[in-house]
Amino acid sequence: MHLLILGGTTEARRLAELLHPTPGLRLTSSLAGRVASPRLPAGETRVGGFGGAAGLAAWLREHRVGAVVDATHPFAGRISFNAAQAAADSHVPLLALRRPGWVPVAGDRWHEAGSLEEAAGALPALGRRVFLTTGRMGLAAFAALDDLWFLVRSVDAPEPPHPARMEVLLDRGPFTLDGERALLRRHRVDVVVTKDSGGAATAPKLAAAREAGLPVVVVRRPPAPEGLPVAADPESAARWVRERLGRGPVPGY
Ligand code: NAP
Repeated sequence: MHLLILGGTTEARRLAELLHPTPGLRLTSSLAGRVASPRLPAGETRVGGFGGAAGLAAWLREHRVGAVVDATHPFAGRISFNAAQAAADSHVPLLALRRPGWVPVAGDRWHEAGSLEEAAGALPALGRRVFLTTGRMGLAAFAALDDLWFLVRSVDAPEPPHPARMEVLLDRGPFTLDGERALLRRHRVDVVVTKDSGGAATAPKLAAAREAGLPVVVVRRPPAPEGLPVAADPESAARWVRERLGRGPVPGY
């Protein structure tokens, strides 16, 4: 069986690692091509868009794909809807691998925002020195905030439009609590902005902000396709794939 993993996340790489090699399974991971030097998953990799839902459906047919796991980032809204459409049109089973969102705990000072624009609108009332961890793609939303200073952490260097007063820190997770504590102190950060990405790799910034009593603006997730089987972690997704390979019942799934 040919499995397509729509990737670009830690979980997608972990799933590929769990499944490769599996007798009888050909595994292709797909990356959008946003990151210049991505960490490559185990198995085959292809890079670049498919050309919408129709293009993806054609790719599934051409490459005789027998199952798809959508393991893209919770904020990659378009590809998930494309995958749902293409899988339905091609009658290929699709599993969504979706890490649960973060949940606030005692001591958190979270401010929810429905979008990056809403997060930007909330910032002037919350602080002056912002640790912005929402990635390099949405920086335009913060570009007009001339009175604020930004520490922008991203994998690749951002391009304009972006905030005028900005320092860029090129880095990618996983991050540690000690590292995040030191970062907040060193840059005298007084407010943090994050997407509700979920997962452990980037969660330490939330604990560091909590310890320091800092407000965190948390951007809510965009809608995701409904009615699909969902796995919360790569291990459950691997069980779903093995089940499709006809390797017996899947306990606990
Ligand atoms: P998006 O808005 O959902 O997708 C835009 C277009 O990029 C899609 O229509 C598709 O092009 C192409 N694409 C996206 N993911 C792809 C994949 N895995 N393989 C092949 N083509 C893909 O996604 P995005 O927010 O730009 O994110 C792009 C990628 O970065 C995703 O794979 C995601 O897992 C990863 N990522 C995103 C975020 C985030 O915050 N958005 C964070 C970390 C990682 P076509 O229509 O031409 O097929």
